[in-house]
Formats: sequence, structure tokens, C-alpha cells
Amino acid sequence: MQTAQQKRLAENLAEVRGRIADAADRAGRSESDVRLIAVTKYVDVETVEALLDLDCHDLGESRPQQLWQRAEQFADRVVRWHMIGHLQTNKAKRTAAVTSLLHSGDSLRLLEALDAAAPERPLQTLLEINISGDAAKHGIAPDEAAQVLEAAAKLPHLSIRGLMGMAALEGGVDVARRNFAALRELRDKLAIDAPENVRLDELSMGMSGDFEAAIEEGATMVRVGSSLFEGI
Ligand SMILES: *Cc1c(COP(=O)(O)O)cnc(C)c1O
Repeated sequence: MQTAQQKRLAENLAEVRGRIADAADRAGRSESDVRLIAVTKYVDVETVEALLDLDCHDLGESRPQQLWQRAEQFADRVVRWHMIGHLQTNKAKRTAAVTSLLHSGDSLRLLEALDAAAPERPLQTLLEINISGDAAKHGIAPDEAAQVLEAAAKLPHLSIRGLMGMAALEGGVDVARRNFAALRELRDKLAIDAPENVRLDELSMGMSGDFEAAIEEGATMVRVGSSLFEGI
């Protein structure tokens, strides 16, 4: 990668971090309560390298093969890999082995396959909830979440940490904000009766187009891709 591109990446990263800090501030929250997951699915290895050099160590991928490949390529660097895309059960084992946090726990069947893969340490996992109600989207229906959570909490090789959701594609930031508020409310409701070994601290919500609204509604992690790579 050219120096000009590295410079642009550093500027974009600083801008996104600044917007995260401002949104946290507006919500009376601390900037350090929100983790930036840089979604690297669109960019080449040189750009991944440049991100790591800029002290950005939480990276998100949505395709398992690319995640496996990159985990191997960057095995000697400090990277926390976040799996954020839909995963088929036959890819559970290899994915569990390299993933620091799986955001896309979108069915009990998948969670059982991840558990059966028995990673060395319990796999940190979020439950992906279909908050927009979009039939084309993956995710657990909100009214089935309690049931799935109860079953998932019994799986010894998983550690359920919270919820993940994506806003509706249509409707802009207002609809997104309502979707995010609904995810937070669902988390609060589930937390009341959650099994003892489960702590639902994490809310993964917000992407380039809506991460500020997500932070104002309680996101603890935002998954940002395109805003970081504009002009690169
Ligand atoms: C691609 C992707 C993102 C990042 O999207 P941008 O709009 O590029 O920021 C976030 N979350 C998931 C699940 C994705 O697949």
C-alpha cells in the first residue's frame, strides 16, 4: 500500500473514533465503553496490515474462508478476529478455532455445532437477533430468544456474552434507531431471567450508516467497514 493510502486510512480511523467519542458523550457514556470492530471483508491484506500498525486490533470478517485464511496470515500479529457473517454448521469447527468473538450465533442448530466443535477455550458468542423482522435476514426471532438462550446456556463450550442485530435496510436512521432500542430492551428483558452463567453485557449494533444512533441506544461494539476505507 502507498504512503498516501496509509495516511488516508489513519485520517479515516481518527474521524470514526472521533464520531464514536462524540456519540458516547451525547449519551452520557464513556468512549471506552464502545469497541470499534473494523470490518475488513472488503479490503486487501496490505490494508489489514496498515490497520494493525494503527493499533486497531479488533477485526471483523463475514466469510469463513477469508477469516481462516487471514487468521493464518496474521498468526504472528495481535488480532482479535470477530466472525460477523452467517456461518454454516459444516464450517463451525475451523471457525471456532480462530474466532475471538462470534457475533452471528443465529440459530440453536449452529450454536450446537459450535459447541460440538469443542474449542480449547469456551467460544465467546453473541446471539444474533432478527430485530428488523426482515424475512431475508438471518437471526433468531425476538419472541424465540429466551428459549434459545436457555438452551444455549447449557452448552459447555460456549459463553454467551450478549446480542447482535442489524437495522432494517429501508427507513434510514430513524428506523435503525428504533431497531437498536428494541434490541437493547430485549437484552434488558432477557437479563432478568437469564441463566446464572450468562451475562448479557455486550450489544453489537451499528455499521457505517448508523453507528452513532446505535451508540446512543447502548451499543458496546460497532462494526464499521466502508467509513474506514473511503478513498482507499
Ligand atoms: C459488512 C458488514 C458490516 C460493515 O458494514 P459497513 O456498512 O461497510 O460499515 C457490519 N456488520 C455486518 C454483519 C456486515 O456484514
